[in-house]
Amino acid sequence: FLYSREHQKEDTIVTVNHERIGNGDPHLIMGPCAVESYQQVREVAAVLAQKGVKLLRGGAFKPRTSPYDFQGLGLEGLEILSRVAREHNMAVVTEIMSVDQIEEAIPLVDVIQVGSRNMQNFSLLKELGQIDKPILLKRGLSATMEEFKLAAEYILSYGNKKVILCERGIRTYETATRNTLDISAVPILKQETHLPVIVDVTHSTGRKDLLAPAAKAALAIGADGIMAEVHPDPVNALSDSKQQMNLDEFEEFYSEIQPFLKRN
Ligand code: PEP
Ligand code: MN
Repeated sequence: FLYSREHQKEDTIVTVNHERIGNGDPHLIMGPCAVESYQQVREVAAVLAQKGVKLLRGGAFKPRTSPYDFQGLGLEGLEILSRVAREHNMAVVTEIMSVDQIEEAIPLVDVIQVGSRNMQNFSLLKELGQIDKPILLKRGLSATMEEFKLAAEYILSYGNKKVILCERGIRTYETATRNTLDISAVPILKQETHLPVIVDVTHSTGRKDLLAPAAKAALAIGADGIMAEVHPDPVNALSDSKQQMNLDEFEEFYSEIQPFLKRN
């Protein structure tokens, strides 16, 4: 398999602007769950940029469980994200849900995220395999390691070698957390693949009190980066209002994990 260590011994480094993801230094991918307005993204990005966060996340096409929930601003959201990212010299990480969104997204996006619910959307994976853009592939809600690696293989086998894997928690019987963070996925994927591995602490735990401990554990066990959601006013957020950090909580989170952020 193209993902395997047998195929490629050395780590794949995915370059996004000037960031080299997978080079040994952990990277942070942060921002709101969904893009809601220019003002909202700008407020978050200013604080993130000040701490040296280089990758700005935000959903414009949102995969919501209910069709009646906020579905995202679509292309307008991508334009907002891209504008704010440029103002702060950050890169845009955002989810694309279907093949027909790829073309309009490409000029505005630096990393295309494949959401958990789309991990096995094989036609999407095949298309993303044929473009020259980094792909952040999230583990499916109930995907095994094998299925996760094979989803990555789809993208790689169609020619795109810039794949970042993201552990984001899986479905188990446990209800104390939103999903169960499978921390052992990190060393398993690091051993069995050469791809960068990041951990989304927001969607895996779904609990603000667990974000810093989960991030520290992820970094200690070898993750190449952490994804987490930050919103200027989480209580009134249009999605994931319970689990997004506000700006003060982000600052606290950042100082707690800071000792884990330098390796080289
Ligand atoms: C997200 O990161 O915005 C998201 C929807 O996450 P997931 O696909 O892991 O549920
Ligand atoms: Mn979210």
